[in-house]
Amino acid sequence: MAKKDDRVSITLKCTECGEENYLTSKNKKANPDRLEKMKYCPRCQKKTLHKEKKK
Ligand SMILES: [Zn+2]
Repeated sequence: MAKKDDRVSITLKCTECGEENYLTSKNKKANPDRLEKMKYCPRCQKKTLHKEKKK
């Protein structure tokens, strides 16, 4: 059974301009690697690759 503290808050950051556009959460045991997602960046005004910000 998954414990509550397996979920961590993460920030998704645009790899092109560095803007931190999305706050989300993930299960760190199910997804130990850094998340990478194509998301719309309002500063770039297009979809760019967003990566989980390292803490
Ligand atoms: Zn951007």
